[in-house]
Amino acid sequence: MTNEVFERIKTVYRRICHAAMRAGRSPEEVKLVAVTKTVEIERIIEAIDAGLRVFGENRVQEAQKKIQDLRFKIQNKLQWHLIGHLQRNKAKYAVQLFDLIHSVDSIGLAEELNRQAEKIGKIQSILVQVKLSEEDTKHGIEEEDLVSLIERIRDLKNLRLEGLMTMPPYFEDIEMVRPYFRRLRELRDTINSSHITNNALRELSMGMSHDFEVAIEEGATLVRIGTAIFGERRKEE
Ligand SMILES: *Cc1c(COP(=O)(O)O)cnc(C)c1O
Repeated sequence: MTNEVFERIKTVYRRICHAAMRAGRSPEEVKLVAVTKTVEIERIIEAIDAGLRVFGENRVQEAQKKIQDLRFKIQNKLQWHLIGHLQRNKAKYAVQLFDLIHSVDSIGLAEELNRQAEKIGKIQSILVQVKLSEEDTKHGIEEEDLVSLIERIRDLKNLRLEGLMTMPPYFEDIEMVRPYFRRLRELRDTINSSHITNNALRELSMGMSHDFEVAIEEGATLVRIGTAIFGERRKEE
């Protein structure tokens, strides 16, 4: 029996490479975050066997269970990213579980993450999620509030801001999404040239199964891919 997940991962990698090369970028600049929400442990193990090490979950509780289960089964060091909205009252668990939190979108959440990270002696890596249009999912900071949020995050000693994330509206025609990805890169570059952060922002988390090639052409460093690896998910509530 051929391993479907393995074949899909090979295809995704090939597409990542081609998109990077089209844009004159090195494929190594693009990290694949395999999105495992609703995916069973057995299939995640297939992905680990195929060589993947970075996984994205959008719910703290679901991630917690999987991370625990996998610790018993797998010796390899895995990286876990939180890609979905985070409620403040779960910040405590999030800092224990995740190497990178993609979805920081308010000073209140940032402060709570900072407080919880300090308690466990961790520097928590984060991205700020930016809402670039009215049709976006309801989460993310508005563009006009981005700089002031970033300036306040700069003073939080247990957070390290690594870059920006966005989740544009869905378009059948993927060329329609390109301006959103380009805008996120422009925002990052503007922030970097104005030196308002402690460190230069490297990461751009953008692109999903259906539009990751366009995102890579526009500068994505983290692509969050679920369906193209694991197949269609059962419907989410
Ligand atoms: C589910 C999800 C993804 C992956 O979506 P696919 O279309 O299955 O690749 C990426 N990012 C976020 C924030 C998600 O919730």
